[in-house]
Amino acid sequence: MHVMVLGAGVIGTTSAWFLRQAGHDVSVIERESQPASETSFANGGQISVSHAEPWANPSAPLKVLRWLFADDAPLLFRPRLDPAQWRWCLAFLMECRPCRTRDNIAKIVELGLHSRRMLDETRAELGLHYDDLQRGILHFYTSQAEYDAAVAPAALMRKLGCDLEMVDRERMLEIEPALRFTNAQIVGGSMTYADESGDACAFTRKLADKAAGRGVAFKYNTTIVTIETARGTVTGVQVREPDGSYKRLTADAYVVALGSYSAGWLKPLGINLNIYPAKGYSATLPVRDPERAYTVSLTDDEYKIVFSRLGNRLRVAGTAELSGYNLGLNATRCQALVRRTLEIFPDVADPAKAQFWTGLRPATPSNVPYIGKSKLKNLYLNTGHGTLGWTHSCGSGHVLADIVSGRRPAVSWAAAA
Ligand SMILES: Cc1cc2nc3c(=O)[nH]c(=O)nc-3n(C[C@H](O)[C@H](O)[C@H](O)COP(=O)(O)OP(=O)(O)OC[C@H]3O[C@@H](n4cnc5c(N)ncnc54)[C@H](O)[C@@H]3O)c2cc1C
Repeated sequence: MHVMVLGAGVIGTTSAWFLRQAGHDVSVIERESQPASETSFANGGQISVSHAEPWANPSAPLKVLRWLFADDAPLLFRPRLDPAQWRWCLAFLMECRPCRTRDNIAKIVELGLHSRRMLDETRAELGLHYDDLQRGILHFYTSQAEYDAAVAPAALMRKLGCDLEMVDRERMLEIEPALRFTNAQIVGGSMTYADESGDACAFTRKLADKAAGRGVAFKYNTTIVTIETARGTVTGVQVREPDGSYKRLTADAYVVALGSYSAGWLKPLGINLNIYPAKGYSATLPVRDPERAYTVSLTDDEYKIVFSRLGNRLRVAGTAELSGYNLGLNATRCQALVRRTLEIFPDVADPAKAQFWTGLRPATPSNVPYIGKSKLKNLYLNTGHGTLGWTHSCGSGHVLADIVSGRRPAVSWAAAA
């Protein structure tokens, strides 16, 4: 069967890889000149299977209200005359109920554990290196109340199969000695030894090369302009070719992996996905003093910032802004990232050398993605991965390939998507 994957972010590329592994003819349509050029380009780098608590949790509504008017708040809501934004926010509030949060954590952990297995296998089979480090993720708290509040979700995640351990400050310094230089008041943390970090863009581009080597046809600089349907099936895709001409491409089945743009493409086809762009920022800084630079990936609970070591670079990422599709850099938010990095790790890097970037997380209110069949017979979804698309990419691609191939997927809830 010929399967056409729409979008070559980390999700489209892993989908293409696993579809090819399952024996399909695969083509990929991507508007940029390389894979992973949009949201998968410079993310936080964490493979965070065990820290799986979604943004929507019982404590979120109060926090969001408190942050409403602070320009450097971790989560910023800029109200717009946009029904999609309000629909998303209302659904987000519903997902904050304890029963929904528990259900979402269970789904996220199930997908995460499967993804970790698939990433391990893929990395070993292909010998991929992407500044990956298998040193765990240390989530640290600067408030005793937040640390205490983390104990119950940690117990739930342990019950679901995650290796999450609450650790005191002394143990944290053993895990990440660079923290001994910190100027922040750290009260404790939670450590997940099996979590990882690495450059999602490098991974995606290397995997795309391997997939091309096995026969996947990547069409870059090719923009989808129309998805055509008739009698409940997709009949073709109109694209603008690199030379500006228009062409109609066809396949037996189609996979939508268009990140934050997926919902807009599917609405005219009668498929209503609740995906809204949650804009995030990252800064990448060359290491100045290796002794002061972390190697364990970290999450700062107070500022909702993640830190990953990518070779001799530091990647720092965070903030979520619900403000539509603009990718502009806000200087206050950029500086907040660098300021916090230097507070936690003084003198680790030269702030003048920071490279800033923004990306649009394809966020669902629950942080559970859409993976599986759509109501059109030959159209499949692999999108809406929000804060954890890199973490969930290999598992999502594998599950999608199983569903397209008519096999029972390893993740129980995906079949019903
Ligand atoms: C600041 C930040 C930090 C993050 N940190 C982490 C982290 O530490 N760990 C983690 O797991 N996740 C993280 N994420 C989330 C993760 O990066 C995303 O979930 C993931 O990249 C989404 O991948 P995707 O393939 O769905 O989307 P994308 O990477 O955006 O891919 C969609 C592709 O579709 C293409 N496309 C769109 N429209 C068209 C069209 N009309 N024609 C042709 N092609 C089109 C785009 O060019 C793009 O390449 C972070 C995100 C951000 C923004």
